[in-house]
Amino acid sequence: MRLHLLGTGSCAPSPTRAPAGYFLEAGGGTFLVDPGPGAVHRATVAGCAPLSVDAVVVTHHHLDHVSDLLPWLFSARHCAGEREARSIPIIAPVGFAAVFAAMRAPFEQWIGAGEGFDAVVTEMAPGDMIAVAGVTITTAKMNHGANALAYRFDDGGGAFVYSGDTGFCDELASLAKGADLLLAECSHPDGWEGEGHLTPATLARIAIDADVPRLVVTHMTPAMERRLVLPTENRGGEDAGGRAREGGEKAGASLTPAMERLDVAALLRSHGYKGELTVGEDGMTVMIASATVR
Ligand SMILES: [Zn+2]
Ligand SMILES: [Zn+2]
Repeated sequence: MRLHLLGTGSCAPSPTRAPAGYFLEAGGGTFLVDPGPGAVHRATVAGCAPLSVDAVVVTHHHLDHVSDLLPWLFSARHCAGEREARSIPIIAPVGFAAVFAAMRAPFEQWIGAGEGFDAVVTEMAPGDMIAVAGVTITTAKMNHGANALAYRFDDGGGAFVYSGDTGFCDELASLAKGADLLLAECSHPDGWEGEGHLTPATLARIAIDADVPRLVVTHMTPAMERRLVLPTENRGGEDAGGRAREGGEKAGASLTPAMERLDVAALLRSHGYKGELTVGEDGMTVMIASATVR
């Protein structure tokens, strides 16, 4: 399996992290996963072919995960030279068929079924399983509202789990047990738990519970990586560990706020995760293979 990280950010605007978007090559097929804003374009930048995928996979219907379905449909219907004439399944949570129909309605003339092409939602409940292009896809309910699901992809040569968005839940660790890689969100810094998103502390606990050998972190907000240090905290260009802060001034002269960089990997390590660890970046490609021959 080969996983392309098209966007490792969230809905919060960031100059370095685009919203959700992933492209998976697995089994004998390809999958566009969570086509958030700009994902179709970034898939082409990554050398992938987003119009000829075997399925689109959607974790939940928040806009940072689905908005590029519309430009994807527009392109797929009208760029016949770049895809076969067929219907492509959109694998998504229960309730998404109605959401998709409503998204499509104002543009029906241009992105409705036609030109030998259509996209049809296959709704998945937690625990459901479906086989596409030699890949078995299994779901689990996440803690995020919007009927959010996580997905596990097994192709016989490797197993990969993607959390979508979620707060802490036991279901993610259960789904990731025995998988080769967990791609998981880590939206917020420690102390921001309980808002339907993970923090380094809660993500580390899930990865440890799952005993997953490799963790790739994604869906990071700017607050996950940079913390505003108020003048009352700022003792002159250094944090408590003696590390330099951006904008820090010499001792005793710190009347302005400064930004402190947070090290996501170090935070996950500090919470006890000992497996291989990658903080995702836009444009990164990750190879996934089972450590044991199956
Ligand atoms: Zn999101
Ligand atoms: Zn969300």
